[in-house]
Amino acid sequence: MPKFVLDGKEIEFEQGQTIIQAAKNNGITIPHFCWHESLSVSGNCRVCLVEIEKIPKLAIACSTIASEGMVVYSASEKALNARNAVMEFELVNHPLDCPICDEAGECKLQEYAYSHGTGESRFNELKTHKEKRVPLGPLVMFDGDRCISCSRCIRFCDEIAKDPQLTFIKRGDRVTIVTYPGKQLDNPYSMNVTDICPVGALTSRDFRFKARVWELSSTKSICQGCSRGCNINLEVRNNQVLRLTPRLNDEVNSFWMCDHGRVNTYKFINSEDRVDSPYLRRQGELIRIGWDEAFAAASSELKSYSKNEIAFIGSAFTTCEDNYVFAKFASAIVGSKHIDFMPHLNPAFADNILRKENVTPNSFGAKSVGISPAKGGLNIDGIIKGINEGQIKALYLIEDDLLSFNPELENVFSKLDLFIMHSSNFNKTSSLADIIFPASTYAEKHGTVVNFEGRIQRLRPAVTTFDQDRALEGMPLSRWDKFGTKFDSWAERNKRDARSSWRILVGLSGAMGHKFKYAAAEEVFSDISKSISAFAGLNYALIGDQGAKLKLESFSKQEIS
Ligand code: SF4
Ligand code: SF4
Repeated sequence: MPKFVLDGKEIEFEQGQTIIQAAKNNGITIPHFCWHESLSVSGNCRVCLVEIEKIPKLAIACSTIASEGMVVYSASEKALNARNAVMEFELVNHPLDCPICDEAGECKLQEYAYSHGTGESRFNELKTHKEKRVPLGPLVMFDGDRCISCSRCIRFCDEIAKDPQLTFIKRGDRVTIVTYPGKQLDNPYSMNVTDICPVGALTSRDFRFKARVWELSSTKSICQGCSRGCNINLEVRNNQVLRLTPRLNDEVNSFWMCDHGRVNTYKFINSEDRVDSPYLRRQGELIRIGWDEAFAAASSELKSYSKNEIAFIGSAFTTCEDNYVFAKFASAIVGSKHIDFMPHLNPAFADNILRKENVTPNSFGAKSVGISPAKGGLNIDGIIKGINEGQIKALYLIEDDLLSFNPELENVFSKLDLFIMHSSNFNKTSSLADIIFPASTYAEKHGTVVNFEGRIQRLRPAVTTFDQDRALEGMPLSRWDKFGTKFDSWAERNKRDARSSWRILVGLSGAMGHKFKYAAAEEVFSDISKSISAFAGLNYALIGDQGAKLKLESFSKQEIS
């Protein structure tokens, strides 16, 4: 591989790469605002100026192609003086309103002002003011004063969202961003501009003023909005998820996620309608009961039906671990052959960027770990027909609000003699249930999901539940900050009594006189990897942060589609 010298260090590069990209690939960041590795080069911010031996003028690292033997200085006196001068220009009209700016704490201008600013301004004239609080679209707010005209947002709409909606108007220090006449910033990926805007000019209307970013903890997870499985960060304060941000994975979603995933797939976690304990229907009313009572009731009810009268519906919304234990419970403990899950397809949702027609995160995984009828058993259509015709009298459903997707199922499910459900929230389907177990959401548990291409990816708990606390017994849960505030007290208030479905099934099988040996999701996964060839050799560490491909040769083409 060809090499050049950057700040005294020899680094390798690929032919055709720019200096800034080669530096990045070698773990060196040359300061920049307008450059983004997924967008075309515009070269307008001039912050990435570097000195190159034998070239008299400074060059911008974002558009200068690296060449063999080149000697580059990104922090020489000449380069630093130029960068400091650019920063002085950037700050001439900037309002310097970091204390009230949502970007503070993750702002490149703030960061470089500390590293390259002079600390005081030589500009004594009046600053140019532009429009503030301009809603560019339903989800993005614009503050013209803060914009540094880097054009990232314009290039994102043109090149990634493939929907040109933004442009510059005016010139010089009057230049500003607007939407084209008659348009608004409403493409399905619009909120990515809030991530790539290097300053606080574009902010999320969903997250504005909810929290300062340094108050948030961040946990790596996977979006649950469709079978793409975009990599995300769950950002939490006081045990409440406050925003989702995309996480780089070149194999899945690059730097991006869609707006639906970002704003519609986390609010149910914090919602007031969470199922807060097990419930049992008595004389038509759902009443709160304890876990042991719920296990005993479910056990004795299930035992009162023959195995052919009970059907099981797993879930494409929950993990492989939950579905695997559910399938084992259905076949090995109850002995039913009637097990399947409901696919949820929405062709109108799909596009050629990220969004997939399958609006569940784990139908591939559910099927792979055994959520399909045994020989002679009923599939999902057969189960529904069986309930309608009275052959199926009892139904056990996990983590799928089927009635919200298919309201006509209400007439069918009301014919059931027994309906047991695991659900994180009260919903249309749970309103018909006889026994409800409170299920953890994807933000409250360990587990895995498999995307449309057979890539298995990990979920991790970002929000604690009482159940996790039991697992952490003996560990100090309360901490005090330097001002003497017990900062987990709000978190305590926001904590739910919920368990992963696999853990609920371990409890229920115990009540039925059987013992599942699992104590942690990782143990369930270890069993999956030993017993299902597509998962062979995998473990949580190997799946890691970026996921791993299942052995697709284990599946038929029909299963993959
Ligand atoms: S709004 Fe942000 S991303 Fe767009 S040009 Fe201004 S600074 Fe750049
Ligand atoms: S494309 Fe699918 S997985 Fe990605 S963010 Fe949108 S809904 Fe979530």
